[in-house]
Amino acid sequence: MSKRLTFIFIFTFFASFLFSNQSVYAKHDSFLENMVFPVKHVMSHFYDDWGEIRGNGNRVHEGIDIRAPKGAPVVAIADGKVNTISYSDSSGYYIAIDHENGWLSLYVHLNDDVEGNDNLGGRETAFAKNIYLGAEVIAGQIIGYLGDSGNAEGTVPHVHFEVRYIGNSFDVYEHIKDSWFRFDQFIRFPKRFGLNLF
Ligand SMILES: [Zn+2]
Repeated sequence: MSKRLTFIFIFTFFASFLFSNQSVYAKHDSFLENMVFPVKHVMSHFYDDWGEIRGNGNRVHEGIDIRAPKGAPVVAIADGKVNTISYSDSSGYYIAIDHENGWLSLYVHLNDDVEGNDNLGGRETAFAKNIYLGAEVIAGQIIGYLGDSGNAEGTVPHVHFEVRYIGNSFDVYEHIKDSWFRFDQFIRFPKRFGLNLF
């Protein structure tokens, strides 16, 4: 095979690989366009902090932090099944929801405080009552409560929100922004938007 032919062959191979991957991606990510804002509170605020360098320069922030008053309801962004409901020293109380086709949403640092007592809470202050491993949830359903558990202790209460596709975290800031706009409009003009958001 000549060098030119080899080049064309390799180019075509990689091009088709790229295109096939893109179409798979496009087919499955449409739920993000209708995603419900992860926090049910009008005093939520966030910016695109995905990819920020944290921890003295040794880790990349693979999520968006949404700040809101402690105890604000955290909701499922889309229909799915509870894939993980757990605790770790760094993440604190956290939930992962499986949206099928490789998509997962994560809600981290859920509330571990009871009024007047820091860190005396537990699973009952972090997770909604009807949430357990394998539970089916619908978009907008309350799954837990925003807080500062894990290594978020001492920070402004926030939920570290993340969307993963086959294990890789993606910057979904634009989708979060759009979902916030729909939530904000719904709060301001509930009649115009109907009652189907929550
Ligand atoms: Zn975070």
